[in-house]
Amino acid sequence: MAHKIAILGLGKIARDQHLPSIEKNPDFELAAIVSRNADLDGVEHFTALNDMLAARPDIGTIALCTPPQVRFELAVAALKAGRHVLLEKPPGATVAEVEALKALAREQGVTLFATWHSRYAQGVEPARTFLADKTVKSAEIIWREDVRRWHPGQDWIWQPGGMGVFDPGINALSILTHILPAPVHVVGASLEVPRNRQTPIGAKIAFKSATGHPVSADFDWRQEGPQTWDITVKTDAGTVTLSSGGAVLAIDGATQLSADDTEYDGIYAHFAALLAAGESDVDISPLQLVADAYMLGEIRHVDDFIE
Ligand code: NAP
Repeated sequence: MAHKIAILGLGKIARDQHLPSIEKNPDFELAAIVSRNADLDGVEHFTALNDMLAARPDIGTIALCTPPQVRFELAVAALKAGRHVLLEKPPGATVAEVEALKALAREQGVTLFATWHSRYAQGVEPARTFLADKTVKSAEIIWREDVRRWHPGQDWIWQPGGMGVFDPGINALSILTHILPAPVHVVGASLEVPRNRQTPIGAKIAFKSATGHPVSADFDWRQEGPQTWDITVKTDAGTVTLSSGGAVLAIDGATQLSADDTEYDGIYAHFAALLAAGESDVDISPLQLVADAYMLGEIRHVDDFIE
């Protein structure tokens, strides 16, 4: 039988991706929307999570699609009510709160799935397989996009906990941490913060891997025109390039794969598998790298950001 699921937070990502992927997946049935402001024709609507939890004990799964700053309290309420929870990325505003959710889910015997949608881009798994037995020499991330195009009117990204340019940058880190054979740690960072905002609009980060090779990341929210979401990994046996956010894979410049975006279909397929197995999937490593970049980052104030 299909899992009845509620979406909490009917914003951009819920509408663009969660609704269509749930609709396509026979393992799920959209049973309610919890939103302070928005509703959906033909679907029961609640304005507060606690009302939904009380009224619909039959809804066993909840997708939390709010910004990270408000996700913890909502996730705690859902987990304490014995519901399985899917977290949009990033899974929380701090590392410790996600650890707490992980422990709570274990205690409650329910599934917690901290999603990283970019890991489901179709070039990512083949890149991971290629790299598994290679010696990595270096890696470089260039993730440059136009904030006005992708986040119009979203104030939360500029507020503490909203992460600024790390909101897209963490997608690159979720790929990096998945494909590299050895873990990496931050060794330095510089963060460009607009004078009138609280979070960075640009960031450069230096990492080192456990095996000693360098990794660099260049995140920027001021790129107009063509957008760049590329990761290049040089190895002893060729150079792997993931571009278009992981949808295109090339080895030594030769395209191996160029696929459509099916990231959220992959997320819901994995969620169904976790529910069937009674397991959780919570990998904090991309969030940890962002936290560490903030910890080591030199702050440089730059021009005001005017939307
Ligand atoms: P958004 O358009 O601003 O929508 C977030 C929704 O969360 C809002 O519509 C609101 O829903 C709810 N919300 C906001 N503040 C809240 C609060 N204080 N308490 C309770 N609910 C609140 O943001 P989004 O772009 O969908 O992003 C949401 C999450 O998805 C973020 O973590 C983001 O990183 C992730 N994500 C976004 C994208 C993207 O392309 N935009 C891609 C992948 C992942 P109601 O008004 O319905 O209550």
